[in-house]
Amino acid sequence: MHLQDILYTQGFGTRRVCAGLVQQGHVSIGGAVVTDPFADLDPEGLLFTVQGTEWACHEKAYLMLHKPAGTECSQKPSTYPSIYTLLPSPLRLRPNKGAVQGVQAIGRLDQDTTGLLLLTDDGQFIHKMGSPKHHVPKVYEVTAKHPIDEAQIAKLLAGVVLDDDPKPVRAAACESDSPLHLRLTLTEGKYHQVKRMLAAVGNRVEGLHRSRIGGLALPDDLAPGQWRWLTAEQVAQLR
Ligand code: URA
Repeated sequence: MHLQDILYTQGFGTRRVCAGLVQQGHVSIGGAVVTDPFADLDPEGLLFTVQGTEWACHEKAYLMLHKPAGTECSQKPSTYPSIYTLLPSPLRLRPNKGAVQGVQAIGRLDQDTTGLLLLTDDGQFIHKMGSPKHHVPKVYEVTAKHPIDEAQIAKLLAGVVLDDDPKPVRAAACESDSPLHLRLTLTEGKYHQVKRMLAAVGNRVEGLHRSRIGGLALPDDLAPGQWRWLTAEQVAQLR
């Protein structure tokens, strides 16, 4: 594939902009500047640098973000900065079937919730992960306002009724290792589900952090606000 087309697919701008970046000497591969926009290269796993930004070529982008508190999972946030401002612009500008689309969050976390968030530009993957039939367990670390007792844990496991659906929702797992900490595993993703479930058993969420989605744990060395590519194995495990 021509270098200018590779840059285009990765979100570095229109083909004309990408050709310009190459011709002006802003692109290097293996430490050497490449100035021919039509240099024919295998995009698979290609590593290159554009104006100091190191990039690994991915046909589809799958990534994890450590969402910090005080950010909104919306492209058009109402109050707090958008999580999308934490990503480099090529991830936000990747073309998708002609229309510029970029990566999108798979599901949402509240503005005050921290932790593991997945993003991709693979529409089918977003659809599958969001499908009610696809029960990927999600683990939440809850800091509660009031000490958690055995009766509350029993109710969360048995199922509680939320205000928008008569069908009870239950935690797939629920454990507490200290009075104010609860580790809750959910296989659904209803709006404000953790907060509403805690309220339904007479408690209140003071802090909420998502630590795991399926087999994927938020790495300890991924600081709030940082993102990382998912490996092909991690993506395959989530499917
Ligand atoms: N449940 C909530 O209440 N909020 C979140 O951000 C995620 C799950």
